[in-house]
Amino acid sequence: MQSEISHAVKLVQKLAAEQKLQSYALTGAGISKASNIPTFRGDDGIWEKYNIDEVGTIEAWMNNPKKLWTLFAEGIGLMLNAEPNAAHYALSKLEKNGFCDSIITQNVDSLHQRSGSQNIIEVHGNFMRFRCTDCGNKKNITAPPKIIPPLCNCGQMFRPDVILFNEILPEKEIKLAYKTAQKANLVYVVGTSAEVYPAAQLPFLSKQNNPFGQLLKSFQKSLERFFLFATILLDLFENLGRLFHV
Ligand SMILES: [Zn+2]
Repeated sequence: MQSEISHAVKLVQKLAAEQKLQSYALTGAGISKASNIPTFRGDDGIWEKYNIDEVGTIEAWMNNPKKLWTLFAEGIGLMLNAEPNAAHYALSKLEKNGFCDSIITQNVDSLHQRSGSQNIIEVHGNFMRFRCTDCGNKKNITAPPKIIPPLCNCGQMFRPDVILFNEILPEKEIKLAYKTAQKANLVYVVGTSAEVYPAAQLPFLSKQNNPFGQLLKSFQKSLERFFLFATILLDLFENLGRLFHV
């Protein structure tokens, strides 16, 4: 494992030195699990506890928005109380040091933003942002809503600005995600099994430009491997940063 990672680090070093590195991270629920935010799928997943059809779909929202707001408010409280973990910080540090141009995330918890990452493409929206169901007004929040359901100034109900099941993914973000993936030659797949569209497709779009072969795909199931890689890379940067001028 160590030699594979050293090999990858050397490749990154070479590409960065030649200013040819085009990289992004693809992240999912697994990266926030260590911040005590439950994943959706899997044994302890949210969908083991709740029925997707009853609480996760656009139809469920249309049928009973007030009922869903009670659950949303609980989720928002949980996310706001969570702290970013070492993996979030590692990605933000990689970005600052020029080793990760952007993050494409399926997460809706704002932990990437809170750990200092700047360039974030949210393909499933964000729970910390509300959108008016009538006038479309958007509002960022830093505390759970005191009144359920929260209302916009226009008097109509806000909803979380996230993508519910059976809703269309946000066009602008999806286009940007594809564009980012197509030009990249390095993908950090962190905390996602990348089985659900569009995440499932993105790493393959980068494959033809990818000098790393299958190596970095293995990060998806092992945060430890990602840490090791990020640590070596960042150590290297500390030593060679001046040389790279990044
Ligand atoms: Zn409104």
